[in-house]
Amino acid sequence: LRNTLSAKAYRDRLAYFDRVTGLPNRRMFIDRLDWACRHAKRFGDRGAVLLLDLDRFRQINEAFGPNAGDTLLHEVGERLAACVRETDAMARLGRMGSIPSLSHLGGDEFSLLLTQIDCDENAVAVSTRLLDCLRSKPFKVGNSEISLSASIGVSVFPENGKDVDSLLKNAGVALRHAKEERRGQFAFFSRELNARALQRLNIENELRRAIENNEFRLHLQPKFHTSGRAFAGAEALARWQHPDRGLLGPMDFIPVAESSGLIVSFGEKILTSACTQFVEWTSRGLYQGRISVNVSALQIRDPGFVDSVARILAQTRMPPGSLCLEVTESVILQRTSETSKVLQQLHELGLWLSIDDFGAGFTSLGHLKGLPFDELKIDKSLIDSIEKEPRSRAIVSAVIALAHHLGHRVVAEGVETAGQHAILLESGSDECQGYFFGKPVAAPEFEARWLPANGLEKKSAA
Ligand code: C2E
Ligand code: MG
Ligand code: MG
Repeated sequence: LRNTLSAKAYRDRLAYFDRVTGLPNRRMFIDRLDWACRHAKRFGDRGAVLLLDLDRFRQINEAFGPNAGDTLLHEVGERLAACVRETDAMARLGRMGSIPSLSHLGGDEFSLLLTQIDCDENAVAVSTRLLDCLRSKPFKVGNSEISLSASIGVSVFPENGKDVDSLLKNAGVALRHAKEERRGQFAFFSRELNARALQRLNIENELRRAIENNEFRLHLQPKFHTSGRAFAGAEALARWQHPDRGLLGPMDFIPVAESSGLIVSFGEKILTSACTQFVEWTSRGLYQGRISVNVSALQIRDPGFVDSVARILAQTRMPPGSLCLEVTESVILQRTSETSKVLQQLHELGLWLSIDDFGAGFTSLGHLKGLPFDELKIDKSLIDSIEKEPRSRAIVSAVIALAHHLGHRVVAEGVETAGQHAILLESGSDECQGYFFGKPVAAPEFEARWLPANGLEKKSAA
């Protein structure tokens, strides 16, 4: 670097970048954190400061000498920076003697600023990722290979501090706690956050066990043709039969499954059970229509997803045209050439694709252009108000008309009243799903109540 830059440029660079790792240094980090705090104060956004400290670094430095230590720090910096977003500022702080509460730190600390996070889960997910990426493979020091672990302290703003000093101090307190009590782990500054983070880790371990022990149950909710109310199919909704806590809904475990990456193996299990159940019912002549299965954006982004769907279809002898995969709008919003390709490949397998929770966020019909969707599900939040608010009714009617123009079938979700059903019938929604027709129930109960699929009128009369 020294040879390629002018003396002044090199001096300027040294002022803001760490010589050893090439990462931003403490000065730049503090500037950015200060700016982030001001931004957060003004716009109310949230963020987190992570302090990461390598376990046993001092011993390594003493044993191999400072040059080897520097090389190691350089490699660690590269590995860490590779697993965060470009906009998250990763820095090396160097010695922190000037901040009394951090004077115990030894110079091998890295810090990370996460901005505009929407929940503490983000900080947990990033911390876990950083710790895992250090542990994933050993580092080479001279002729030896060294396994490294680290501890992380996290403070979240604005809850744990609104300025640079308090945030760094509290992240330092959390780090000290991590190093003393839970080496190789992360700790949040506040007690509740800490408790929550521990609980999350606990759920993650339990989830891992639940996947192995097949503790997930398939619940199914029927869908009906809006006009005539004939049975149109069912949506599979996952439940976790927890050995101590009873039956848990998806909100209790999907977020953790997503942030831990377990969603991929969980998703394969659920898809396999849904296909197996479908094939069993159709072989007994009980079921007509498609079965819908929810998939998370993270599954779509998994490079092995299309292959795993194809494998499950083959293994269970599921006819592809009878399977509908529901994806949420976050998939569309973060549309990349990669996601478009995956959707296209799924479409080519012969599956149906549905866009779930339409209208809950920011997707517009324009976003759907060029994507191979067959069905659009209007979110419950829009359906809720159609009886009382003429504007909602107008929006729903317009969405239905436009979706039909684009060739999509329309399903209204969360229909709870006869009045909503009547309006949806008038607006031309193809199918309805909701408590008014039937709640999600376990497979045996679903079979008893809704199959053979003769339609709602006959079943309710029975
Ligand atoms: P979703 O796919 O939009 O499913 C509809 C949710 O609304 C279900 O909640 C269902 O029980 C509920 N619901 C249906 N009709 C009504 C109604 O009339 N009134 C009310 N109040 N609620 C109604 P659930 O089962 O708790 O699932 C929540 C979300 O979890 C699902 O939303 C889906 O995004 C996700 N999910 C469920 N199973 C899976 C799964 O196997 N994989 C993945 N990735 N996500 C899943
Ligand atoms: Mg769904
Ligand atoms: Mg939905």
